[in-house]
Amino acid sequence: MEINLISDTVTRPSKGMLDAMMRAKVGDDVFKNDPTLNELEDKVAKLFNMEAALFFPSGTMANQTAIKIHTQPGDQVICDKYAHIYNYEGGGVSFNSGASCKLVDGHRGMMTAEQVETAINPPDFYHSPLTRLVAIENTTNKGGGACWSFKELERIKAVCNKHNLGYHLDGARLWNALAATVETTEQYGSLFDTISVCLSKGLGCPIGSVLVGSNENMQKALRIRKILGGGMRQVGYLAAAGIYALDHNRNRLSEDHKRAKELGICLTNCDWVKQVEPVETNIVIFELDTALTSEEKLVSYLAAKKISIINMGHGKLRMVTHLDYTKEMHDIVLASLKAF
Ligand SMILES: *Cc1c(COP(=O)(O)O)cnc(C)c1O
Repeated sequence: MEINLISDTVTRPSKGMLDAMMRAKVGDDVFKNDPTLNELEDKVAKLFNMEAALFFPSGTMANQTAIKIHTQPGDQVICDKYAHIYNYEGGGVSFNSGASCKLVDGHRGMMTAEQVETAINPPDFYHSPLTRLVAIENTTNKGGGACWSFKELERIKAVCNKHNLGYHLDGARLWNALAATVETTEQYGSLFDTISVCLSKGLGCPIGSVLVGSNENMQKALRIRKILGGGMRQVGYLAAAGIYALDHNRNRLSEDHKRAKELGICLTNCDWVKQVEPVETNIVIFELDTALTSEEKLVSYLAAKKISIINMGHGKLRMVTHLDYTKEMHDIVLASLKAF
C-alpha cells in the first residue's frame, strides 16, 4: 500500500465524484454557456455572500488574477515572508503585474495589523512604490497550516480601509481554517475584496480553484483570466467535481485534522524529534534532533515502508493528511514512526 503524505493535492477523484463528472451537462464556458460551471460559480458566490465567482484551473492563476485586479505596474503588495504568492508562484507578482512585495516578518505566516500599517509606504512620498494591496493566506502553507484569528483579520481590514488598500485572501486551504474555527464563509466574504479557494486540496477535486468578489472585480478577472490563457471550454466536467466536493467533502475535513493532531502527538513522543510545530489543521511540520538522526535517514526509512513525506531542509519535514489517507494507513504510519 502506497501512503502519500506529501500534500493534500495527491488525492484522486472518488467513485462518487467521477460519476458526478460523467453525468455533467456541459457547454462552452468561453461563451458562458456551461450550465454546470455556472451552477458552481453561483454556489460559491452565494456561500461567501459575494456578488460573483470565477472558476480557475489553479490557485496560482486565481491569486495572480486577483493581484492584477488590485495593482498597477510599480505598485506594492504587503504580505508575510512565508506567503505562497511570494514564494511559490514563480515570481508571478512581478511577471504578471509588474508589482513588488513588501515582506512582513510575521509569526507562522501571519502578520499583525500594526506590522501591516508600518509596512505601508506614505502615498505622497513618490520615491517609494505605492502600496495598493494587503494579501493574507489562511491557513498558512509554509506556516504549517496555522489559522488566523478573525479579530486580527478585522483589525487589518480597518487598516486597509483607512489607507484605501485592497484586501485579498489566498484561501487555498480556507476550508480547513473554517473547519477548525467558528467563523463562516459569509463572515470572510464580508471582510475581503477578493478570496481564492482551492477545490483540489482538502476537498479532493482533480483540478480547480474559484475566485470570489464583486461583479466589477470578477468582470475584470474574466478579462485577465483570458489573457493568462485560462478561458476553458466544456469545463462543466470539472465544475461537477467541485459541486460534488462542496456537498460531500467539507464536513469530513475535521477527520484530517484529527489524524494530523495524532501524528503530531506521536512525533512529540519520539526522542529523535526536537520539535513539532503546533498542529491546527492538516499540516504537520516537525524538526529532527540532528544529533540523533538526519532527514535523509528518516525519509528513506519511511520510503522503504512506502510512506512518502516531504523533506523541507534545515532539519524540517512535513506531512499532510487528506481524503485518501485512511485509518488503516494512519495506523501503519503511527507504528512506523514509533519503531524508527
Ligand atoms: C496550493 C496553494 C495555492 C495554489 O496552488 P495551485 O497548485 O496553483 O493550485 C495557493 N496558495 C496556497 C497557500 C497554497 O497552498
